Amino acid sequence: MAVWNLGSVNADQVYRLPRPLEPGETMTADAFQRGLGGKGANMSVALARAGSVVHHIGAVGADGTWMRDRLAGYGVGVAHLVERGETSGHAIILLDTEGENRIVIWPAANHLIETGDLAAALGTAAPGDWVLCQNETNLQADFAHKAKARGLRVAYAAAPFDVEAAQAMLPHADLLVLNEVEAAQLETATGLSPEALPVAHVVVTLGARGCRWFDTVSGVSRDFPAPRVTVTDTTGAGDTFTGYLVGALDQGAGMGDALALALKAGAVMVTRLGTADVIPTRDEVEKFFL
Ligand code: ATP
Repeated sequence: MAVWNLGSVNADQVYRLPRPLEPGETMTADAFQRGLGGKGANMSVALARAGSVVHHIGAVGADGTWMRDRLAGYGVGVAHLVERGETSGHAIILLDTEGENRIVIWPAANHLIETGDLAAALGTAAPGDWVLCQNETNLQADFAHKAKARGLRVAYAAAPFDVEAAQAMLPHADLLVLNEVEAAQLETATGLSPEALPVAHVVVTLGARGCRWFDTVSGVSRDFPAPRVTVTDTTGAGDTFTGYLVGALDQGAGMGDALALALKAGAVMVTRLGTADVIPTRDEVEKFFL
């Protein structure tokens, strides 16, 4: 089996500032770091680290060769990660000593994916494979619709939250993953609580409290606690959770076992500083809890 992840690839440009920037002010940063990021790339790395075969579908600009190479180095299939335009998606992240991060995202190539790119990828996918989408690219609903028609299973992480994108995706999704805030936003926009959504499996992540799984077909919900760990940085925990969950399902695990693994991976991830580059391997996840 394999997972076909239509997702964003961003260059995270992180600047550490001595204090918050005031309007109109120019400031020299204390430190700078460039890393691989974007929800899509994070999830692809998590899928690969969970031991799944993963193909990333998306676009980077002419300046994105290093990100393509890094994903490939992590074992992610990049044959369907195309080059579009000059500029890759990127995030400018301002970290200050008061812990108030300010982030600007520019999607650039992430929004230049074309329908032909999707068709090329799905042409080699097999019925029963999973596809995964988030909200940081264009064409998710089109991709999900075509994937369902080919007999693939569709997982959707409704982040960053966008009500129109969510409403377009829900009719095609078999599995929806969203955090508590996104679940509340979706309920406000649609009037539907998680158990009433038209998706067979809905997983609401609850940070340090773990997650709740709604099997909307049988009407049963079940809580899964998260392992207790010392938190260093929660960035990327949700993406790691989702990648591990879909990876485990693709490898044949039942929902309960897949959620238990995803919670362990998410918990290890919060003990680490960074995003895609530090997502734990399955071996590291299992050893952490021995
Ligand atoms: P992110 O911080 O990546 O944006 P999110 O807001 O999308 O995450 P959360 O519900 O906060 O979603 O966290 C996702 C998952 O990460 C949780 O279900 C859990 O598995 C793990 N996680 C987050 N925080 C902790 C924590 N303090 N301890 C253990 N696990 C955690």
